[in-house]
Amino acid sequence: MFKSSSDSVLIVGAGPVGCTAALALAQAGIPVVLLEQEATLPQDMRASTFHPPSLDMLARYGLTQRLLPQGLVADRYQYRDRQSGAYAEFDLDVLKDVVGHPFRLQCEQYKLTQTAAEMLKDYPHVEMRMSTRAVSLTQSDSGVSLDVEGPDGCETLNGRYLIGADSTRSIVRKAVGVEFEGFTYPELFLVVSTDYPLENHFDNLSFVNYMSGGEDWCTILRVPTHWRVLFPTPQDASVEDLGRPEAIQARMQALARKQGAYDIAHISFYRIHQRVAKKYRAGNVLLAGDAAHANNPLGGMGMNGGLHDAVNLCDKLIAIMQEGASEDLLDLYERQRRTVTVDFIQAQTIQNKKNVEESNAAARLKRIEELRRIVDDKAQAVAFLRRNNMVDAVERSYVIT
Ligand SMILES: Cc1cc2nc3c(=O)[nH]c(=O)nc-3n(C[C@H](O)[C@H](O)[C@H](O)COP(=O)(O)OP(=O)(O)OC[C@H]3O[C@@H](n4cnc5c(N)ncnc54)[C@H](O)[C@@H]3O)c2cc1C
Repeated sequence: MFKSSSDSVLIVGAGPVGCTAALALAQAGIPVVLLEQEATLPQDMRASTFHPPSLDMLARYGLTQRLLPQGLVADRYQYRDRQSGAYAEFDLDVLKDVVGHPFRLQCEQYKLTQTAAEMLKDYPHVEMRMSTRAVSLTQSDSGVSLDVEGPDGCETLNGRYLIGADSTRSIVRKAVGVEFEGFTYPELFLVVSTDYPLENHFDNLSFVNYMSGGEDWCTILRVPTHWRVLFPTPQDASVEDLGRPEAIQARMQALARKQGAYDIAHISFYRIHQRVAKKYRAGNVLLAGDAAHANNPLGGMGMNGGLHDAVNLCDKLIAIMQEGASEDLLDLYERQRRTVTVDFIQAQTIQNKKNVEESNAAARLKRIEELRRIVDDKAQAVAFLRRNNMVDAVERSYVIT
């Protein structure tokens, strides 16, 4: 079995970010140890939207090609007003001269992790350890020593660099004493999945819909097997009450009235944060993905931003480890990715939530009219879609020096 060594990169967390980073390094010939605390890759129903620049990036590793048949191509998406039914529809094809994949891919995030994990089996210099939890770490001149608990007990692994891709509660981030600045929303977010054909209830429903409506806002997203509806919940309500079958049925019936009960595939509650790690680099420890930043899901930017971190960081690690480039590149990683996270991803997702929460019906309709005007003006539509589909954020990150 491949053993960790001072030449390897240790990666904590086999979510979309950890798996993508592992594949990027593996394909460059760098030894990798990828650790996951769960016994099998989590199948949680979180991210489902891959943005065009992410598809362009993942294609470098052969991932996009494998994900396309597993997802749905969303070449248009809509901003809707829940009460009046008015909507503006954006056609992503106007980005065809800007990106290689002028569409979003609606595909569950676990299909990315499963696909990457399968591809990693082809690389003898990669070790993927399941049921193995990182617990603490120390750094020295030669690299990082990581204490882990696995099926065979406790062990120390050594690597030259360590990537913390271990989500919002990151052990890695805490071990290097980096603050996670920002705030947590007081309300929980509820996701309900159903097989029921919601497209029969809304005029021309696309695979991605942001539905404004004051307290009744929601998003309606299609994945290959289900419609997924994201709702806010009242701040003072308990999960037990919110999750009662009659409460779920009432929310769905209020969204689209139908005869008989909804067939509910699953429900999940999420605590959502707007937070950014104060630093992305602490010596040879690098933070990426939700370990470095968290945001609300409106606009689908959390996982995508994490994938952009992974690609940016791994290119730099490859240059350092194989071409003798300066470790200053790791500070550049922090400057590039942290800056766009704060200036773009945090700002945009906070604004997206304000837009759907607008309680004034006239203001909501005015916004839909403004969006329709943007749709009708190609230059404005391109600018809008570049911003809202993360093209600007990626380009901007790479011009930061
Ligand atoms: C309802 C909802 C919808 C969303 N929709 C979108 C969307 O459409 N598009 C988008 O871009 N983003 C979306 N997001 C955000 C997205 O899910 C996250 O940003 C993404 O999962 C982050 O990936 P990650 O790899 O950084 O972390 P995670 O996916 O959280 O993976 C971290 C992994 O690390 C493991 N781990 C944790 N601690 C340890 C440890 N100590 N040792 C070993 N392993 C450990 C965990 O078990 C886990 O497998 C959504 C989020 C929610 C809640």
